Amino acid sequence: QSTLCLHLPGEASTIAAGTALAAALKPGLNIWLIGDLGAGKTTLVRAALRALAYTGPVKSPTYSLVELYKLSSLYLYHFDFYRLNHPEEFVDAGLGEYFTDAAIRFVEWPDKAAGFLPRADLLVRLRHAGDGRELELEAVTAAGQQCLSEVSG
Ligand code: ADP
Ligand code: MG
Repeated sequence: QSTLCLHLPGEASTIAAGTALAAALKPGLNIWLIGDLGAGKTTLVRAALRALAYTGPVKSPTYSLVELYKLSSLYLYHFDFYRLNHPEEFVDAGLGEYFTDAAIRFVEWPDKAAGFLPRADLLVRLRHAGDGRELELEAVTAAGQQCLSEVSG
C-alpha cells in the first residue's frame, strides 16, 4: 500500500503523526509537505524534531528559506519555498548543496522550486477538514515506501 490517510481532529493528532514519522526517518529521505498556509506543515516538522530530542526553537523557514538541525546522529534540513518568486532562486541561493545522502529534508511549498528539486520519496498532504485536518502520506520511491510501512506498521 503506497498511501495512508488519517484524520487529525486537533493539533495533538498532528503532533502524534509527526512523532510517528520521526521514528521512520532515514538519512537521504526527501519529504515534501503539501498544503495551504496553516495546514500544519511546520507543526508536523516541529513534532518530528521534538521526537528526535531536539529541544531548541523550531521556526518556520519562511524568511530564511532553510533551517538546519544537527541531531545526534543525523542532519535534518527544513525548507520553505513559499517566498520564492522564481524557481531559479533555489539555485541562486546555493540550496542544491543541501541535497546530500547524509541528510533528511522536509520541504514546504516544493512546487515553488519546481524543476530544481530532486524527486521526493514521500509526499505529505495536509488539508483543512472541518476544525481539524486530513493527512495523506504517499510513497513515491522504495525508500518512501519503507518509511510509510514503518509509520503505518
Ligand atoms: P503551515 O506550516 O502549514 O503553514 P503551521 O504548522 O505553521 O502551518 O500552522 C498550523 C496551525 O494549525 C497551527 O496553529 C496549529 O496549532 C494548527 N493545527 C495543526 N494541526 C491541527 C489539527 N489537526 N487540527 C486543528 N488545528 C491544527
Ligand atoms: Mg509552515
